[in-house]
Order: sequence, then C-alpha cells, then structure tokens
Amino acid sequence: MKNYAIEKEIDELLSLMTLREKIGQLNQVMPPEEDDEDFLQAIKNGEIGSIILASSSVAGNGEKKLSNIDKLIKYQKTAVEESRLKIPVIYGRDVIHGHNTVLPIPLAMAAAFDAQQVKDCYRFVAKEAARDGVHWTFSPMLDISRDPRWGRIIESPGEDPLVGESVAKAVVEGFQGDDLAKEGNIAACAKHYIGYGASEGGRDYSKTEISDYNLRNYYLKAFKSAVDSGVQSVMSAFNEISGQPISSSRYLLTELLKDELGFDGFVVSDWGAVEQLVRQGVATDKKECAELSVNAGIDMDMVDHCYTDYLERSVEEEKVDMAQIDDAVRRVLRVKFNTGLFDNPYPPEYEIDFEANRQKERALAADTMVLLKNNGVLPLRKDKKVALIGPMATEQKSMLGSWTLDGLPGEVVTIVEGMKEKAGDNVNFYVPTLFDEQFIALLHSDIAVLCLGESCRVTGENNCLAHIEVPDWQVALAKKAKKSGKPVVAVMSFGRPVALEEIEPFCDAILYTWHPGTMAGAAIADILYADTVPSGRLPVTIPRCTGQIPIYYNAPSSGRYANGYYGEGLNYHDCSGRPMYPFGYGLSYTEFKYSTVSFDTDALSMSQLEGGEKFRISVDVENVGGYDGKEVVQLYIHDKVASMTRPVRELKAFEKVLIEKGKTKSVTFEIGLNELSFYNADKNFTAEKGEFEIFVGKNSYAPLAGTIKIV
Ligand code: BGC
Repeated sequence: MKNYAIEKEIDELLSLMTLREKIGQLNQVMPPEEDDEDFLQAIKNGEIGSIILASSSVAGNGEKKLSNIDKLIKYQKTAVEESRLKIPVIYGRDVIHGHNTVLPIPLAMAAAFDAQQVKDCYRFVAKEAARDGVHWTFSPMLDISRDPRWGRIIESPGEDPLVGESVAKAVVEGFQGDDLAKEGNIAACAKHYIGYGASEGGRDYSKTEISDYNLRNYYLKAFKSAVDSGVQSVMSAFNEISGQPISSSRYLLTELLKDELGFDGFVVSDWGAVEQLVRQGVATDKKECAELSVNAGIDMDMVDHCYTDYLERSVEEEKVDMAQIDDAVRRVLRVKFNTGLFDNPYPPEYEIDFEANRQKERALAADTMVLLKNNGVLPLRKDKKVALIGPMATEQKSMLGSWTLDGLPGEVVTIVEGMKEKAGDNVNFYVPTLFDEQFIALLHSDIAVLCLGESCRVTGENNCLAHIEVPDWQVALAKKAKKSGKPVVAVMSFGRPVALEEIEPFCDAILYTWHPGTMAGAAIADILYADTVPSGRLPVTIPRCTGQIPIYYNAPSSGRYANGYYGEGLNYHDCSGRPMYPFGYGLSYTEFKYSTVSFDTDALSMSQLEGGEKFRISVDVENVGGYDGKEVVQLYIHDKVASMTRPVRELKAFEKVLIEKGKTKSVTFEIGLNELSFYNADKNFTAEKGEFEIFVGKNSYAPLAGTIKIV
C-alpha cells in the first residue's frame, strides 16, 4: 500500500535534486580498502547512493569480514551531515543464511518444510546483521533449480514452486519484521530474477532457455510471493533467456515484475551485470549498457559505474527519459524511507544473546536433516561403541556452507564434539592422517559412523561439478566399513543432492545433513541419538547418477508413457528411470499411519471458487511408532485435462505437524482457485473446468486419494 507521506517527501527531494545527484542514488560502490578523500568527497557530492560491503564478485567462499564499524559510521555521517540533501547511504551485504550465527544452507532450510521455524531464525539473523551496520541483505535467493551440478543450487529453495513461495515469504518476513523501520530489521532482496537456476548444463552464468509458460508456472512464483510479502528489492540475474539478457529485458523487469506483479521497491543489478551486456553482445560500450539497463528497469547499478559515468549524457541525448531516472530514484528513496534510514542512519546498539541464537540454529539444523535409509540401526544407543570414520568428522569451515562471510569456522561444533558430548568415551575417533587407524578403531567398536561430504568450495557461485556421484574414495570407505560386518551409518554433509546409487548398498542408514551451519555436529548428534527425531524432507530429487539430470517430480504428462511420472516406464538402457529418492521424501524414527482422506465436497462451480469457496480435504494422521515426531503431510494435484499439458503432480499444500506417540492429528487442506489455476498460453492465471486428481501422503509418490471437479 502506498504511503502518501513518504511519497510526498520523495516528491520534495526529487524537486531539489540535480541530475547528477539523482544518478548518484542509483550508484552502488565498494568501499575503499584504505581511507580515501576522493571517496568521502563523492559521498559529499551525493554521488554514492549505496555501498556494498563485499570485496569481490565471487564473495561466496571468501572470508572477508565486515569492515570496521567506525568506518561505516564515518561514511554515513558524511552523507547525512555533509552532503547537500543529507540523504543517507544504504549498506548492502550478502547476509545469505546467517550472520555471526550461521544457519544451514538455504537448500537445507527448504528441507525443513517449516516456514515459521525458518522465519524465526531469520529474525535473529537480521538483528545480528543490523547491529553490524547492515541495512540491506542480498537474500533470499529464489532460483528454482533442477540441476545439482550447478553449485548455486545450495542457495536455492530446490525444485518446487510452492516450497519456493513458502521460503520467500518466511525469509522476507524474517529479515524485514512487521515494521521494517524498527531497529534490528533489514531490507531483503529477492534474487536472481529470473531463470538463473536453469543455467544450461548446470554451468554457472550459462544461457537459459525457458518458455514464458514455464517461466511463469515454475520460476516466477517464488518471486511473486516475495513481492506479495513486501520485499524491498529484487536483484536481476546474470543470465539471458532465449536470447534476451535479463539486464536488458524491459519485458521481464518492468512489464512483468513492476507492472504486472506490482513490485514497488527497486531493482539492483547483479555484480557487474550491467557492463556485462557488452560481453553478452547486445551493447557496444558501457554507455549503451547503462541505457539498455536503466530503460529495462534496473534502478541501481552494482559496482559498474556505468550509470554515474554515462547516464547524464544519455539523458541530454534523449536516449533515456528523465521520467525513467525519476522512477528509479523514487524507488531507491522509497526503500531508504521504509527502512527508517532517514531517522536512524547509524547502527543500533543492543545486546545479543548468541547462545540463544545458537540453540535455535541447532534446532533448525536438526529439522532440516533427511533420513534417507534406516535398516533399524538408528537411533544410536549411548552405551554402544561408535567408530567415527571419514573426512567430515572434524570439519568446520565446510559445515558452514558457501556464502557465510561473517561466520567463524572456529565456532562450528564438529561431529566429533557433538557425539562425544552425548556418548563420551564410547565415541572413538582418530585424526584421519591415515584412515587405516580409524578402521582399527572400528574393530573395537559396535558400529561405524561414516562422516562423508563435500567442501563448501565446490558449491556456491561459479563452482559447478560435472559428476555429482559420491566421490569414489568415499564409496571405498563405505565398502571397507561394510566388510567389517559392523553396521554402517553414513552421515552425508553435502551442499547439493548427490547421486547415491553406488554407495547406498554399503550403508545400513543414510542421514543427509547438508551443510548444517554453526551447530552442525551438535545437531547431527541430536538426530543420531534421537534427542531430535528426523523430520526433514527432500526439497529436490536425489538422482541415481549424473546422467539422470534433469530429474524432477513435477514434469508434465508424456504422450508415450502410461503415467510419465518421474520417467516411469522410461528406462535408460543403463539406468532406471526412477529417482534414487523422490521429492518430499524422508523417514522418521516413528511411524505415521494415514486414514482415508475425506472431501467436504467433490465439486464446486467456477463462480463458487471465484467467490472464495474452497475444497476442504482432510486426513487423520496417527503416530503409531515409539517416538513423538513431526510429519510433513503433503497434498499434490494433477489437472487431468487442460488447454496445456500440466504436471503429473504438483505440490499444492503441506503442513508439518508434531504428533505425540499414540496420538492422532487431523490435517485439513483448503484447495481454492489459486491452487487450481495456472498461467495459460495467453499468460492469464486461470483455472479451467474439469477433474483434478488429489494425492495425499508422505512424499511425491503419495497415493491417489480421490478426485475433485470444477463444474
Ligand atoms: C552474486 C550475488 C551476490 C553479489 C554481491 C554476485 O556475484 O551473484 O548473488 O549477491 O555478487 O556479492
């Protein structure tokens, strides 16, 4: 909703600004390494609207800590006291999944299927970052991806639009709070708009080829959810879609995002993405880059200086309209007002209870872990002797994951520490200079716990893999452990989904922990010893081998296979068509029994749906096992006949419920017009009459529960 008081203040400022000052607001720069008079002078001149607290384009795996807060205060003081119009600068930083306290990687957080828990954690992340002078973060990353070769899949919500929507809302609300202007809240940025997750071959920065139909139905929804949740900024993506770089696409940035979705914050380019239009071959020089980008709808230029260097001339030459500049400046100023920067330009001062944050992080991390296999060896008993084997047992840095600029690896709880805390001397561990010694320990132990995984340095930006199988040498560890005759538990700390076909036969249990953040080892031990019962579910399909990619659950019906679901009926000559583990999958230590699903009605007319009526679909879930536990109850639909091919299954509702052992909980889902609609060939979001199959259950292989009809 428009805040007229703010709009009036912006009108006044705009009426006072020179063109140079206006363009200054659209300019985001890096701070100088050393004190620099020219830099301070540029702030005084109103030529710097924003400062990015990062030092390179691929900051994801760097360890550069925040610069000294006194410097940030000094620059801000210069802006608000010495510049003509006293407009504060806005500090942006990649606070992606945590600040001092590091949360699990975003893909893991999607696996929690618990928006409230994720939001609660982002509330304290915002507080930690705000106190260090950060006003604005470049998160959430909302690029739906079906390709685990792409290193950035670890930053994404996975393969499903509904999960993307839920994560978008949780993270935006977590960062921004109920009132963004209150201290301790920071502005969010939905990125990378749009389609970046479809980089061809999983190669970062590669082209994407997405039809408008698929763009809207798969990739747009999470961004729409962020906009509806009040996100203050959107970052445009590096990629092109079907020949059109996003940075020069007026259709995507202005017509779709700003006009159609009603986004009223500002668009910032990704690092160097304006200047990059030359390399992408649609602009001859930096001046043309600036013109194409600003006219497409990029309001702020991240570190390229294309806007400050050229836009004045472009306006004089009438290549860029003054109205376009004014709109961009209005958007930037609006965010500065919304964040309360004019009233409170300096970092807030308050105490932070870091221990409380660590405990919340630990609970979230445990709830993101997915138990993929269990032949009854888990949970562990504290009186049994465990041999810890493998590279991740004492790992700290990689347990934080990529994009953790301010988390200290030294503060990470290792698996050895977490396990010893619970079972003391029953946990045997030898520093793995020679893995043989760990196997000698196994001779004297009851069970092997393999700590496998990948470095965070092969995940994140510009870190792609051609092979996503578990590395051979780690499979060899599993084989060798299995030969001992002792039960083998694989604890797998990977950032991305990896292909598990080779290793699975040698494991009696597999716990997929992702890169779990600061409390990694403590959270892993909580799960292994059943202080927390596993409740994570896969937000992305786990393939059998690299060659199955792309494999995702919500593919459209095929004309040739009876069902087409997950490629069933299609087998490669050398591999099954089925995934290793499907989307939505995850085991528990307890067992849940589903009742017959009931429908309050099986038909509604289009006008009833338009009037807001919904199908109410209910199921009772009974905990028939031996532990209290959380179940993720999932509802999928299939639109049987429509004007376009529709996915064989689409997740339309889910709820994570805690059910005590022996107890039953009733879950009711409401399915209305929104859930039954899709963007059709004419780009209209609409439902069509006809039948829909409803599947309710534990994962995307949920059984058919019945059909509903729009009449
Ligand atoms: C990344 C963004 C990041 C930006 C600023 C870029 O290279 O693609 O995700 O926010 O750098 O560090």
